[in-house]
Amino acid sequence: MEHNCNQTIRCTVDKCRHHEGVKNLCSLDAITVGTHEANPTKIECTDCLSFENR
Ligand code: SF4
Repeated sequence: MEHNCNQTIRCTVDKCRHHEGVKNLCSLDAITVGTHEANPTKIECTDCLSFENR
């Protein structure tokens, strides 16, 4: 079921309602990435702001 998936947004967050589990893709056309840190310096500082719980 990859018909609606943007092949260029790969994601492993399988608890998100937009996640497509077979190929680890995001089903959205675009996402927004942000941070919860004042001074982000590593991967763990970034967040997908388009995440929605299943
Ligand atoms: S919205 Fe963000 S967290 Fe959810 S599947 Fe897409 S990229 Fe992953």
